Amino acid sequence: MSDLNFINEMKNKAIASENLSKNEALNLAKTSDLDALLSAANEIRQICCGDEFNFCSIINARSGKCSEDCKYCAQSAHFKTGCETYSLLETTPVLQMAGQNEKAKVHRFSLVASGRGIRENDKDMPKIEQIYRALREQTNLHLCASFGIATKEALQKLKDSGVKTYHHNLETSRRFYPRICTTHS
Ligand code: SF4
Repeated sequence: MSDLNFINEMKNKAIASENLSKNEALNLAKTSDLDALLSAANEIRQICCGDEFNFCSIINARSGKCSEDCKYCAQSAHFKTGCETYSLLETTPVLQMAGQNEKAKVHRFSLVASGRGIRENDKDMPKIEQIYRALREQTNLHLCASFGIATKEALQKLKDSGVKTYHHNLETSRRFYPRICTTHS
């Protein structure tokens, strides 16, 4: 099959919301017809999203002082990065920032915090719940959260407080991870 036919076949699968197999995805990455690939991607975007997009914004809700040693991260206490350090913000400045973002037509708003992760009994959890409840009551923003590795119980608490989407990077493969970070898997 020619590159063009293959790209078209994959495009039609994507438009029909069908999953590509691993081999199909790998073959797509090897295609030499970049123009056809970009054109197909644009067609998918036009059909699935049109000219609309989700505009998201984040606030650095707790900065620096992290116990972990992720090598790329300015927030790690293991490295001298000069990053600003502070504990979890209070509700009022978060609400102010969220309000400004909403006025600027932001759709989604997330608290992003330094640290390895979040557990249901963390000392910051009551304040985090309070912040999200206030955001839910006083804004129409889609609320997101990014606090690192989370327990199911912590996620439930976030959800009950108004969080709709949780974000966490995978960073790299399990095999390579020890080269990036030694303090957690
Ligand atoms: S756990 Fe998160 S905040 Fe801490 S060093 Fe790693 S990436 Fe940075």
